[in-house]
Amino acid sequence: MKVKVTEECISCGACVDICPEVFFLGDDGFAHVREDQAAKPELADKIREASAACPTEAIPIEE
Ligand code: SF4
Repeated sequence: MKVKVTEECISCGACVDICPEVFFLGDDGFAHVREDQAAKPELADKIREASAACPTEAIPIEE
């Protein structure tokens, strides 16, 4: 699975609450992806959940 955070991010923190293994708020205040964690199959469902919960659809996923 490939996942990223786009510039649509409004720093709400929802993705970090749902899947802190993969998403974190950077020094710039916006969400970022830990690529090594995002590659783990066992986290795929949580990544999908975080993507669905993002209010600005800033977390596109490539399966
Ligand atoms: Fe940004 Fe979306 Fe994550 Fe909120 S849920 S911090 S808007 S990427």
